[in-house]
Amino acid sequence: MVRDDLTKVYNRQLRREMDYSYDSARPKRQIAYIFDINRCIGCQTCTIACKSTWTFGKGQEYMWWNNVESKPFGSYPQHWDIKLLAMLGPQQWDKGVYAGKTIFESAPEDEKYLGFRVKEQEWRFPNMYEDTATGHDMQGVDAAKKHGVWFHYLQRICNHCTYPACLAACPRKAIYKRDEDGIVLIDQSRCRGYRECVGACPYKKSMYRPESRTSEKCIACFPRVEKGEMPRCVVACVGKIRLQGYLTTDPRRADPNNPIDYLVHFEKVALPLYPQFGTEPNVYYLPPRWVPLEYLGQLFGPGVEEAIAKRTDPSDKLFACLRCFGMQRDVLYRFELQNGRVLAYNDKDEKVIDLALKDEPFYERPMVDKERNTLRINEP
Ligand code: SF4
Ligand code: SF4
Repeated sequence: MVRDDLTKVYNRQLRREMDYSYDSARPKRQIAYIFDINRCIGCQTCTIACKSTWTFGKGQEYMWWNNVESKPFGSYPQHWDIKLLAMLGPQQWDKGVYAGKTIFESAPEDEKYLGFRVKEQEWRFPNMYEDTATGHDMQGVDAAKKHGVWFHYLQRICNHCTYPACLAACPRKAIYKRDEDGIVLIDQSRCRGYRECVGACPYKKSMYRPESRTSEKCIACFPRVEKGEMPRCVVACVGKIRLQGYLTTDPRRADPNNPIDYLVHFEKVALPLYPQFGTEPNVYYLPPRWVPLEYLGQLFGPGVEEAIAKRTDPSDKLFACLRCFGMQRDVLYRFELQNGRVLAYNDKDEKVIDLALKDEPFYERPMVDKERNTLRINEP
């Protein structure tokens, strides 16, 4: 049945048109993040950096705008993805084109999206199953037979989607996407706390605050970003797995020296999370190398095998780009490799990174200092 309250838009990740509530309105440039799962140590420094900046108030106790869950069993809120995947039905890809239905296309007749409200208790225990690998007998299910022994961390924030489900669902039109950078925000003065966005967001990154009776979500640290600094979760990351920048919205104009464009549009090593939901999320992941491809295909769509192959044996330019992660706080606009050195520049075109690609000088002190007749090791 054709619905007259929906319009056709082009979803680049699905490589086809799909139904959405509004006409396509891509911003001038799109804030985007790349997370290299291979480097994450699960320390939760990002989580606490975000919590201590934005969600330490009354009514926000349960909120983790940034969370890191251990897949495949971990999830915050509990079972957020498993529930929706089960509701969505078959999700095949046909030569890179999504052949299943999105959350908009499979919406019940009188709804704008397919989704569910999270029960209060499901927001509890945000890191249940932390560091839990497959291969254990869990609740009577022998997961080892199915998956082998592995787990990986999944770093999650709001995806500042190109087609946000939260925005489509809001009856108050309180949610908007900024034209200057694609950040998705909730206008607190318009929000009446109906929680449609909470039900609609497939990633469950819009959250209700009983204290203010409004919904809230990650704001991409816009006060920092507007000054040319990356968000708190990115800069605080101990594993140096995160990079934030801007994706050129028209891939035909993508710049191979813009690190985000380079990883997403050119090398295609960074992939979106659950693209089949249909919101065109703008957080991209370098998939973990040790996880079964079948599972990763469900998480990141087509292209996982190629992405892992490139990440495992990177070209010099790809290695140079990966070296820029976590090296300083300014948003990077371009990077280059010159005479074996990685150089990167901020919005003022100032050089903010200058480091060796490989073969950084390495100094090793002799274990025995003959001059002082002593050992240079810590002895008990
Ligand atoms: S991740 Fe959810 S809350 Fe964030 S923009 Fe997308 S739909 Fe909205
Ligand atoms: S701070 Fe970085 S390394 Fe630590 S959990 Fe967060 S994303 Fe992973």
